Amino acid sequence: MSDADLRDLYQQVIMDHNKKPRNFREMDNANHLAHGNNPLCGDALVVFVKLNGDVIEDVSFQGSGCAISVASASLMTEALKGKTLEQAEEIYQQVHKQMTGEEADRSALGKLEVLSGVKEFPARVKCATLSWHTMHAAMDSDHDISISTE
Ligand code: ZN
Repeated sequence: MSDADLRDLYQQVIMDHNKKPRNFREMDNANHLAHGNNPLCGDALVVFVKLNGDVIEDVSFQGSGCAISVASASLMTEALKGKTLEQAEEIYQQVHKQMTGEEADRSALGKLEVLSGVKEFPARVKCATLSWHTMHAAMDSDHDISISTE
C-alpha cells in the first residue's frame, strides 16, 4: 500500500468506525475489565473481556472520546475476538510498534495497518493506543483496574 493510499484509507476507516463503533456495549459476563483514561484529550474507555481458557471469547468497549480513540477501540475489538492470548499479545506488540513508528510485522496486522496513519498526528498517538493499553491492563488483572496515559 502506498503512503497516499494508506492516508485515504486511514481517514475512511477512522470515520466509519467512529460513526458505527463495533462491539460498543457493556458486557455483563465479562471476566476481565479495565478503565482507560487519556486526560490530555479527555478520552475515557472501559474495555470488557470474556476469556474462556486462553481464548478471547468476547471483547467489547464503552465510553467516550475523540474519533481516533473510538475507532481504534472498535478496530481492536474486531481484531482480537476469537484470538488466543498469545495471538493477542503479538498483535498488541505489532500495533504498538507501528503506531510509535517502529518497523512492524504487517502480516500480523492485517486491517489494523491503517492505524499506522496516526503516526502523522503525533498528538493523537495516545488516543490511538489508549484502548490497546487498557486491553492489556485488563488481561493482566483479574479485577477492575484503571490506567492513565499520563
Ligand atoms: Zn483523543
